[in-house]
Amino acid sequence: MKRQCDAFNCSREVASGRFLCLSHWRMVPVATQQAINTRYRACRADFGFLSDLVYLQACVDAIDGIAKIEYGAGHQAGQGSYHRLLRVAQRKATV
Ligand SMILES: [Zn+2]
Repeated sequence: MKRQCDAFNCSREVASGRFLCLSHWRMVPVATQQAINTRYRACRADFGFLSDLVYLQACVDAIDGIAKIEYGAGHQAGQGSYHRLLRVAQRKATV
């Protein structure tokens, strides 16, 4: 199954299980890459990563970091699907 790169305004196809296309992935800090990979593997079985706070926060950091590099600090962050998932997970975590 093919999916699209999650970086803002990027429509490149990425392989199933990949978060970003290669050129965007390379713009993500190594610590954030490791958090994404580790949590994704740990939670893959039942799609648990979609409600994993650490994973979602790392994804949001990666997406916002890339957008800042490409579009400048004025880019409006917090609009993507991962931002939505993170807000949902945070609400659940505080209940
Ligand atoms: Zn991309």
